[in-house]
Amino acid sequence: MSAYRFAPPPDISLPIAGASDRYAVRRIFCVGRNYEAHAKEMGFAADRESPFYFTKAPFDYAPSGATIAYPPGTANFHYEMELVVAIGAAAFRVEEADALRSVFGYACGLDMTRRDLQFQARDKSRPWDLGKDFEQAAVLSAVVPVAQAGHPTAAAIELRVNGVTRQSSNTALLMNGVPAIIADLSRFYRLGPGDLIYTGTPDGVGPVQPGDVLEGSIAGVGTIAAKIGPPLD
Ligand code: MN
Repeated sequence: MSAYRFAPPPDISLPIAGASDRYAVRRIFCVGRNYEAHAKEMGFAADRESPFYFTKAPFDYAPSGATIAYPPGTANFHYEMELVVAIGAAAFRVEEADALRSVFGYACGLDMTRRDLQFQARDKSRPWDLGKDFEQAAVLSAVVPVAQAGHPTAAAIELRVNGVTRQSSNTALLMNGVPAIIADLSRFYRLGPGDLIYTGTPDGVGPVQPGDVLEGSIAGVGTIAAKIGPPLD
């Protein structure tokens, strides 16, 4: 076995509800603007035809319950509460009708966003990475297996900030539902176990400040929480 010059990065994995083993994370895909009301609040007409994607590194993971440092380089740090799909079987060029067979389970996710940096990039037609892909930007709950909880096709999705409801919607309002997302994404990637897909956030996104407490829930999937900590020195 070869030695490493520097310690290899940690394995990233999520708890599995009701189990002692864990779900190892390989990639994190995210769908943009997938609820009509959120697309409008971002200043766009709803586009039902073509989902689009960005990614986060697994290293961005923070477990539910963590304190998230207010990140560097931003003055407009936002929450986005989302349903997350956990893939559990190979899916490449799958049809929508077959797509759900590749789903192992679901999690609650917070797509934490440096909104000012995202908008600066967006407005210059540059990549979103600085706005979306940074340490602790992917808060995730445990994965609930489909075998345990089914598919949350019409589930209430909510987010509260300091106890006040800021996002309240239903997964039935996803413009591209989970089968459509998997079918489309599998045209471009060989999806497989360890691939997570954030499916997009409902309307009601907004800024957070140090000390704020985020609490989210998706009926049948579970809950998620995070506290915003002080900025890094
Ligand atoms: Mn999002």
